[in-house]
Amino acid sequence: MKIVFFSTQPYDIQFFNLHKDEFGFELIYFEAALSKKTARLAENAEAVCVFVNDKLTAEVIDLLASQGVKIIALRCAGFNNVDLEAAKRNGIKVCRVPAYSPEAVAEHAVAMLLTLNRKTHKAYNRVREQNFSLNGLLGFDVHNKTVGVVGTGNIGKAFCKIMLGFGCKVSAFDVIANRDLEALGVEFKPLQEVLESDIISLHCPLNDQTMHLINDTTIAMMKKGVMLINTSRGGLIDTKSVIQALKSGQIGYLGIDVYEQEEKLFFRDLSSDIIQDDLIQRLMSFPNVLITAHQAFFTEDALSQISTTTLKNIKDLLEKGNLENKAAFLA
Ligand code: NAD
Repeated sequence: MKIVFFSTQPYDIQFFNLHKDEFGFELIYFEAALSKKTARLAENAEAVCVFVNDKLTAEVIDLLASQGVKIIALRCAGFNNVDLEAAKRNGIKVCRVPAYSPEAVAEHAVAMLLTLNRKTHKAYNRVREQNFSLNGLLGFDVHNKTVGVVGTGNIGKAFCKIMLGFGCKVSAFDVIANRDLEALGVEFKPLQEVLESDIISLHCPLNDQTMHLINDTTIAMMKKGVMLINTSRGGLIDTKSVIQALKSGQIGYLGIDVYEQEEKLFFRDLSSDIIQDDLIQRLMSFPNVLITAHQAFFTEDALSQISTTTLKNIKDLLEKGNLENKAAFLA
């Protein structure tokens, strides 16, 4: 049984190789992202394993099907990059890793929040240059602040619990209120009220309803100087609107681990290149913006869970035609 991997990084090879013998699969790794041009690398493979920025359009899926691919296994939770209808039409089964250490992503969101607030990234560089001045490093107490969470699934829930632990007043918006979180003290409110918080963190998936959820209109509903954190998907934010709001001071802090045009940038070393994306260059120029390159999931615990769940999903689909892990099944 041959599985072809796209967008492979050294850490994927490390963690998938650790577990592959338990499943008896042959794993072939390619650094290239999956596209029309690279789909033919999947020749003779029964499954392809893909990541967040591989584009599984109808055209790419038709090409995979014509080569005999039977399974598309996403080694991530989000699946906005896959045309599920095209997969169904071609009889290709699609699975994902619905929950791998949601705490990894929630903790990274908190790391971004604390870094933006207490400016530890600046302090680190300053002290190394023997600059022991505190000017410009002033933060605020997170305790007692209002925190608004959009999306209270696995990651949003973990984030809410951490912020309750900090002594924050946490409110949330989701299409379904979570009773367990309500019992812990999270108040479910309409989106507009949640957006009035001191700190806002996005944890909903990217879909037709949430595309550019953060835009001129919703930014105008926020408190002046709000802190906005996005560890979910770049498309939730209209980058041009956010840049205007940073310039006017309406947004006081921005932490993003995801970016709408990230597939042209993230997961590679471009330190000697001329970046053509003027929007990310503008974002990087703000002193109150922190960008990480889609690393919120990147813990040993999460990578271990991702590799075993992905291989188990493929084994279940091959042997039983369905998945024990129902939330992992997409088409
Ligand atoms: P999940 O499916 O457990 O939860 C998503 C929640 O969003 C659900 O409760 C759902 O009801 C809610 N939701 C759906 N539509 C909504 C809407 N219009 N408004 C408000 N809420 C809505 O997913 P999760 O595991 O918590 O992951 C959330 C997102 O985080 C994923 O979709 C993925 O895009 C992103 N993610 C990012 C990383 C990273 O490394 N940065 C890693 C994993 C996941």
